[in-house]
Order: sequence, then C-alpha cells, then structure tokens
Amino acid sequence: MKASLMKKLSLGFLIAVLGSIILASLISNYTVGKKFKDYLVDEHKTKVNNAVKIIDDVYSNKKNPTDIDTDEIQRYAQLQEMYIEVKDLNNNTIYTSGNSHLQHNPMMENMMRGMMHNFSEMNIGEYNEEKHPLIVNNENIGTIIIGYFGTSYLSSASVTFISTLNHSFILSAIAALAFGFAISVIISKQLSKPLVEITDTANKMRTGDLEVRANVNTNTKEIDELSNSINYLAETLKTQEMLRKRLTSDMAHELRTPLTTLKTHIEAFMDGIWEPTTERFEAFYEEIERLTKMVDNLRNLAKLEQTNLNLNKSKVNLSEELEKIIDTFKPLYIKENYELTSSITPEITSMVDKDKFKQIMNNLLSNSYKYLNPNGKVHVILEKKRQNIVIKVIDNGIGIPEKDLPFIFERFYRSDLSRNKNTGGSGIGLTITKAFVEAHGGKIYVESKVNEGTIFTVELPSREVM
Ligand code: ADP
Repeated sequence: MKASLMKKLSLGFLIAVLGSIILASLISNYTVGKKFKDYLVDEHKTKVNNAVKIIDDVYSNKKNPTDIDTDEIQRYAQLQEMYIEVKDLNNNTIYTSGNSHLQHNPMMENMMRGMMHNFSEMNIGEYNEEKHPLIVNNENIGTIIIGYFGTSYLSSASVTFISTLNHSFILSAIAALAFGFAISVIISKQLSKPLVEITDTANKMRTGDLEVRANVNTNTKEIDELSNSINYLAETLKTQEMLRKRLTSDMAHELRTPLTTLKTHIEAFMDGIWEPTTERFEAFYEEIERLTKMVDNLRNLAKLEQTNLNLNKSKVNLSEELEKIIDTFKPLYIKENYELTSSITPEITSMVDKDKFKQIMNNLLSNSYKYLNPNGKVHVILEKKRQNIVIKVIDNGIGIPEKDLPFIFERFYRSDLSRNKNTGGSGIGLTITKAFVEAHGGKIYVESKVNEGTIFTVELPSREVM
C-alpha cells in the first residue's frame, strides 16, 4: 500500500522524536544515575571523615576524656543525621549522641524518618556502623563508632532523582511529540501541497491540456526545479503539437499545388480545351519532378533521423571549396541583378565530408537567393575563430518574422513571408543543413529581421582529425 507523503513524513518525524527521547533518557539515566550515586557515596564518606576529625580535634584538646565539651559533636551528629559514640580502650562508652542501636529502636527509627521528611516514603535502608580509632597525639585512646542508615538510603535518593529525571523526560517527550507533530504537519504540508499541484498539472497534460502550467509557490529548491521542468515539458509538448499539426497541413499544401496543376491540365486535355503540346508536357514533367524531389527529400530526412550519419570525411581546403561554390552561384545572381560578395580567409582546411559541405553551402546560398528583394546583396564570410571555423551567409532579403525563427530548422516549416514569395521551396532544406552541420560536430544559428535581412552562421570545429 502506498502512503501519502504527509503521512510518511509525519510518522517518520514522530518516530525520530520518540527514538531520540528514549535514547536520551536511557543514556542520561545511566550516566546521571551513576554519577549521582558516586556523589552520594563521596558525600557520605566526607561526612564520616569530618565527624572523625571533629571528634579527634575535640579529644586532642583535653587531657581528661571525661572532661570534654561534646556540644559540637552533638550538633554535627544531629545535623548529619548520624549516631556517634566514643569508647575508651576498655570499651566503656565515654560519649554517645543518642541511642546507639537505632535499628532496634522503633522510636529512634521513626525519629530518623521524621528528620528525613524529604525521603519519608522511601526505604531508609539498613542500619550500619563504622568503627574508627580515636587517635590523639599519635596515640590510640579509643574507638569512634559512627552509625547511619545504609546504602539503600543512598540508592533510594538516587532512585528519586532518577525518577524525577524520568518524569521530566516523559513530560519533555510529550511536549516534543506535540511540537514534532505540529512541525511535521507544517513541513509535510509545505512539501506535499506543491507536489500535489504539480501532479495535477501532469495529469491534465496527460489528458491533452497543454495550456496548463504548474504555478507553485515554494522555497524548496528541488520542488521548484520539478515545477519548472514540468512547465518546460508542457511548453515543449505544446510546440511539438503545434509543429506536428503544421507539418501535416504544410505537407498537404506542398502536395496539393502540383497535383491540382496536373489535374486541371489533364481535365483541359480531356475536355478538348487544350492541345497536348510538348511545352505543356514539359510543364507536367516539371511538376512531377517537384513531387519526386519532395518524396526523395522526405526519404533522406527519414534516413537522417534514423541513425548517425555516415560521413565520408577527408581533408578539405574549405577556402578553395567555398570559392568554387560561390562562383557557380554568381551567374544566377548576376542574372537577377543581385550582388554576391565574399571575404574568405585562405587556406582553411578541415576534415569534412566534401559533398555534405557543398550541400550545406548550396542550401544556404540558394535560400538567400530565393528570399532576396530587388537589388539584393549577399555576403559570405569564412574565417577561423579560436577553435572554430566560422562561415556566415549574410543577406539583405525579406528576413524571417521573429515568431518563426525558433522553428525554421523544423521539417516543412516555412514562414508565411516565404510562402507568399512562391519560391517553390518545400521547407526541408534547413532541416537537412542542420543535420549535416551537427553530424560534423558543428552548430548553426540564425539571426534575422523582417525587411532587413538574415544571417546564417555555421560553426565547425577546426580540429584536423574529427
Ligand atoms: P525552403 O525550401 O522553404 O527554403 P528551408 O528549410 O530551406 O525551406 O527554409 C525554411 C524557411 O526558412 C523558408 O521557408 C523561409 O521561410 C526561411 N528562410 C530560410 N532562409 C531564409 C533567408 N535567407 N531569408 C529569409 N527567410 C529564409
């Protein structure tokens, strides 16, 4: 079963919070508990040592052990909740802070419990006694007995401490869970909302609505990128859809013109309106030629798109080759009173497929020729720029409308301006040109302004071996 992002994130967040709290409480329970116990034991030892020291001090000032001021010892015993007894060497008690056997005296025990009201509900533990020698001036003159409630009392205190600690952990766990839950809901909403929107957009695109765009407002980089990609995809699909539709109608248009001409002419023959003369058959032939050429071009295009082009590369002097191509075009230009000039850097050589190079230049030059206005001019440049060989074909012809510029390398795409000119083009010359340039590892660009002219730039890598 697939869980929603929100559920997953919230659950993950909660598990993480809970896990951290459990871990933190276990670790602190262990370390704090241990330290606290050590601390209590140390405290107890210090108390006992202090008591011994006080008694030592009190007895060392007096010659006669019976003649001592026991107030200080008494105060300390009460303050520290201990039983203190001092015996002489003959085991006679010479001082006692109270009943020596607290454990046998319920009243004393109750009193002790009363004194320890903070821990009144706890097990105050076994009664223990410690014996220490009473040493005055390096001489053992008796025994000090110190009684207290045992280690279970200490551990009880630490248990209380730990349980208080646990309580606070439970409280903080509840608070952290509530807080974590709130945060996880906010974060997962922030993440899932734009994703849902993007999914909606994608679903609409799937049903054919290519106008739809994801309009998400997010500060998450990846989601923003995803939304941009979806929008870009929609844009691309829309363009492709437009091109596909246009391609069909353009193809129909290209086919219909020669077919209509043929049909009307044959009808005229059949009705006896026209005499079938040689010139008329020649016109027929030209139309059929056009159709055949189109079909050939289509076949070539299909081949171009299939796999990598097979290039028959050799070292070619591009400068010389280009001069020759320009020369073949010159008579055509002169006939129309057009001007064809060039600036060609000599001796530029490269590894290219010579036939394909010729076809690239033929296509560009015949396009310029086709779309020139009276007194048109075309200038061809060949030069080397850093790692590239750059060829520019610059004309001052009719230009290409800005809206058509991105598509003129597409199959059968022709600007309306060129259609009106009735040049007999079919809109696949540039598609082939681009495929040839790219097969050589090069690039082709176009810049154009309506009524000002067009610049086609071909960049070929100038590496000798390609
Ligand atoms: P066509 O056979 O129509 O010339 P191309 O693929 O060679 O086909 O060119 C596609 C379209 O690009 C042309 O129909 C024309 O609209 C535009 N075009 C190409 N070259 C030029 C140019 N030099 N000046 C103006 N428009 C051009």
